[in-house]
Amino acid sequence: MYFASDNSSPVPPQVMDALARANEGYAKSYGADPIMDGVRARIRELFEAPEAAVHLVATGTAANALALACFCPPWAAVYCHAMSHIEEDECGAPEFYTGGAKLVLLDGADAKIPPEALERKLGHAASVGVHNVQRGMLSITNTTEAGAVYSPAEVTALTEIARRYGLPCHMDGARFANALVSAGCTPAEMTWKAGIDVLSFGGTKNGLMGVEAVVIFDPAKSWEFELRRKRGGHLFSKHRYLSAQMAAYLDGDLWLDLAKRANAAGRVLSEGITALPGARLLHPTQANMVFAAFPRAAHRRARDAGAAYYFWPMDQSLDGPDEEPLTARMVCSWCTTDEDIARFLAVLRG
Ligand SMILES: *Cc1c(COP(=O)(O)O)cnc(C)c1O
Repeated sequence: MYFASDNSSPVPPQVMDALARANEGYAKSYGADPIMDGVRARIRELFEAPEAAVHLVATGTAANALALACFCPPWAAVYCHAMSHIEEDECGAPEFYTGGAKLVLLDGADAKIPPEALERKLGHAASVGVHNVQRGMLSITNTTEAGAVYSPAEVTALTEIARRYGLPCHMDGARFANALVSAGCTPAEMTWKAGIDVLSFGGTKNGLMGVEAVVIFDPAKSWEFELRRKRGGHLFSKHRYLSAQMAAYLDGDLWLDLAKRANAAGRVLSEGITALPGARLLHPTQANMVFAAFPRAAHRRARDAGAAYYFWPMDQSLDGPDEEPLTARMVCSWCTTDEDIARFLAVLRG
């Protein structure tokens, strides 16, 4: 009954096998390995972007911070949601890697930026010339931090506004696969066809040991990315082990299968929780994350039975009235089983 996060899951056997296969003989280092040639070709094919720059890093924070740095000058603003990972969970890496760009926060339900909010914010920006931070870029997260999914049309609505002001657009896709299978569109439709310039293409939350790809649709930015990655200490020397994970992830569409499993588990869990007495969802379940309120007594039973998940927000207490609802985040992964969910729901029902 482990619902703390999808990055707590083990690595699928296909990925471990690929690592073992890559662990033979010698290979060129620093991304010049032949497995990486295949990864680059496959990602370009998947995204229908034959020119795209494709580079690997080991963390989502590095992917995001380096991607932003390539597009946003130090004196400009990154427009993002107040709940975004770049704001809440990256310890200032975006500010650090951009050399001081300012995150300007927007509110909106389900961690999505409403187009009107972006329009209003951009309309008010840069009104006093040299004295204030300039408009820099847009960053959105799909799947959002609240488990919701932007459709390609919703992405386009935001990027069109940004584009009118000449701003490039980033997508934090730590859970890109979950968003894609939920929206039922192609990788191209979700990204460059919807106005995205650079994507952090997540692997770790969806089963890899630790690899994310940065996909830059304008190849002219590729060299700058490479320099920034090296300078930032994120160019792996034994790179073949990153490449091998990503190759296995893409092979036979494993990445989509893993996300479908995680999303299906999310759906079952969400329906089960909704049916509990006194429970309600905080956000619609559109991928593999369930945000819900349910009575404290059920949380106590879950804790006693060893279930793992986070209170959301975290500063809530099991001490207090039984019926009072407490809010929680529960995340399913590619290996969450129906039995895990059934047991968890039985414990919650009491
Ligand atoms: C997990 C996550 C990341 C990446 O986090 P790292 O811990 O740096 O790998 C980025 N964005 C979102 C939305 C995430 O959930």
